[in-house]
Amino acid sequence: MTHMHVAGAIHADVSSPGPQWLERPADVNALDASLWSDTTFRGSDGALVTGGMPVTTALAETGSPVYLLDEADFRRRARDFRTAFAGWDVYYAGKAFLTRTIARWVAEEELFLDVCSGGELRTALLAGFPAERIGMHGNNKSSDELAAGLQAGVGRIIVDSLDEIGRIERLCELHGWHARVMVRVTPGVEAHTHEYIATAHEDQKFGFSITNGQAMVAMVRCHYSPQITLIGVHSHIGSQIFDTGGFEVAARRTMKLMAQFRDATGELLPDLDLGGGFGIAYTSDDSPSTPDELSSNLREIVALEARAHSMPVPRMSIEPGRAIVGPSTMAVYTVGTVKPVDLESGAQRVYVSVDGGMSDNIRPALYAAEYSAALANRASHASPVLCRVVGKHCEGGDILVHDVFLPSDIRPGDLVAVPASGAYSRAMASNYNHTPRPPVVAVREGSLTTLLRRETLDDLLALDVGE
Ligand SMILES: *Cc1c(COP(=O)(O)O)cnc(C)c1O
Repeated sequence: MTHMHVAGAIHADVSSPGPQWLERPADVNALDASLWSDTTFRGSDGALVTGGMPVTTALAETGSPVYLLDEADFRRRARDFRTAFAGWDVYYAGKAFLTRTIARWVAEEELFLDVCSGGELRTALLAGFPAERIGMHGNNKSSDELAAGLQAGVGRIIVDSLDEIGRIERLCELHGWHARVMVRVTPGVEAHTHEYIATAHEDQKFGFSITNGQAMVAMVRCHYSPQITLIGVHSHIGSQIFDTGGFEVAARRTMKLMAQFRDATGELLPDLDLGGGFGIAYTSDDSPSTPDELSSNLREIVALEARAHSMPVPRMSIEPGRAIVGPSTMAVYTVGTVKPVDLESGAQRVYVSVDGGMSDNIRPALYAAEYSAALANRASHASPVLCRVVGKHCEGGDILVHDVFLPSDIRPGDLVAVPASGAYSRAMASNYNHTPRPPVVAVREGSLTTLLRRETLDDLLALDVGE
């Protein structure tokens, strides 16, 4: 994490409390363009506008809280990856956020799609997503999930254990199916945002270790299986990564493995997938690489390694999720209470409680993830004050934004928007405290399209079949 700090670990300087990287803004109404979707700006009346519509108008229609997804922004980012990585296959990682409409957009933008559960697969197939352009992930796919994928004819299954390989073989034998498979390997790289760690041991649940030879065992097993065509090797090194150093190590180790496999079996595997994890800006402190920068770095690394092993450049793929959907979406909340709290340093922090929280964005609580926020329904001439945006749940850790400057006249009834809320927010949302999950509504050229409707208490109570 970039800014891992405990509550209260704030700057001692009373004139500028908050973490070092957070600057008191000269204009509290200004938006940092790197955090907000393409079509978002502050309109002449002071309210934020997104997708050609003031958020106040949108909220009057959708209710609060809501995720507003800028369709043009989503499509533009998908297209940027496709263009920058021309000649490579770009798989949108559906786990970041997937609905039928999203699957349709992904297909229209000519991307491929990753799913990692039977539910995500069903969603994609219901949307008419071409099965041969779907990759199936997961470290513990059930026989039912594998059967659904094989029956639909998914383009590839990324296998993660010998048990799974056996399961696939049995299903194929029984039903006369055939599987195209990649072996997920752990190249001994762990990437965290600004740095990566090359590790010898890989104490985690995903993949086959290259170091201890398990990867080669799995590859050889697939190679000799009559029900399976082994197409290549897959590696995914982490998430919210800002530089290509980790990918460089991963490419070096996976391509060496492919060369060793060629030398052992005489077969050159055609495919290599380097996974996803490309970072986005959640706060002004983050500066992610563009798809063009990523592409030219990765192409260079892969070409170099191919030459080193006298092999052709494999058919390459990547799997961005967050980098496509994350920045497209803002979460909009309504302020319920505003409470100043005195800090030991003599400074004050204002706790702004909103009508959502850890049930619609678990990332701050789960990963100490940082976010930003802005007053969304109006501009303000009041001076900036250090705030913490918190939810309504019964947990001290129910924090949405640890530190952000908001206008000191912020009050109940105001709207607060949190940018970069498109990935792993609604997708990881829960019903904690029996809270119905907010809707996801696409905005485009002044009109709204509901992708996921708001959950109702009746939806929740329908599951409670007791007396
Ligand atoms: C999660 C995941 C991704 C996408 O990660 P992002 O950080 O959203 O880009 C890609 N590939 C695999 C295998 C994953 O598990």
